[in-house]
Amino acid sequence: MTARIIDGKALAARVQSGVARRVVALKARAIVPGLAVVLVGDDAASAIYVRNKVRACEAAGLRSFFIHLPASTSQAALLARVAELNADPAVHGILVQLPLPHHLDAREIVDAIAFEKDVDGLHPANAGLTLVGRPHFRSCTPYGVMVMLESINYPLHGCNAVVIGRSNMVGKPMAMLLLAANATVTICHSATRDLASVTRRADLLVAAVGRRGLVTAEMVKPGAVVIDVGTNRTPEGRLVGDVDFADVQEVAGWISPVPGGVGPMTVAMLLVNTVESAERSIGAYLPQSPLLVEDDATRAEAPHQPV
Ligand code: NAP
Repeated sequence: MTARIIDGKALAARVQSGVARRVVALKARAIVPGLAVVLVGDDAASAIYVRNKVRACEAAGLRSFFIHLPASTSQAALLARVAELNADPAVHGILVQLPLPHHLDAREIVDAIAFEKDVDGLHPANAGLTLVGRPHFRSCTPYGVMVMLESINYPLHGCNAVVIGRSNMVGKPMAMLLLAANATVTICHSATRDLASVTRRADLLVAAVGRRGLVTAEMVKPGAVVIDVGTNRTPEGRLVGDVDFADVQEVAGWISPVPGGVGPMTVAMLLVNTVESAERSIGAYLPQSPLLVEDDATRAEAPHQPV
């Protein structure tokens, strides 16, 4: 079997065209959705992520506010900047790019973002609402994975889902969203014994660790859906995920690549959350699938068969 590919890049383009449609409707009501992106310091990888987010905003018609602060910025100065953005009616979403320089307390900064503008979904209020099954803003990466699964009509109800990784940003909210969709969820982490025996039972396997080659073909149930969240660099500088793509592709039913999988979807979901925030600000938010666009051509052609 050769797995079908879940093309995150194409799906993200589809999601972004849905965002653009909603932006047009908001502009007709004199609202331009605005996203503030705060970068502290000069970390090269963070600068690339931020640039991609700002570009995606502009392409979809949102207004972006890029705030680049020196690495020497104090905790008090950053908190003051966040407070200004909280109070600014032109800003509907605030993202502080992580990681922050070591002298800054990232937890206190994230907690200071108004939860109604926390479009990254990392504020404890948003994490808690996701936990109790009433998500306000879903954390962008797990939200993107859910939309990828929706795009292939994957039947989550009753499936065995295994999430490797338990971070607050990815693993835990991923597990909560899958649980809310009636999957039977197992969460693995660095202390999990015999990881392969757990992953082999997974109809759906999500790898979110940050370790190249962690998931091999022997760890995957034939026909399973494998979503690779991990991002790692090879010694040559090539971007790869946690999954041994070439071998796992021969066993899985569906697989998401790195690059071109979860990464573009994470950016797309940030735009979705920002538009949602702008819609909420005028009481115009209607829950809808981020895949909803006028042109249905890019939707996966056949529903997924349960494995
Ligand atoms: P993180 O905070 O470092 O968490 C990694 C998780 O993996 C931890 O829960 C850790 O367990 C677990 N782990 C480590 N070694 C393991 C092992 N051998 N077996 C099983 N579990 C193990 O990382 P993160 O923020 O969740 O991100 C995970 C990966 O996704 C990274 O590569 C990151 O770059 C990537 N990522 C990609 C995107 C995207 O848009 N594509 C977005 C976010 C993150 P413990 O809790 O026990 O330490």
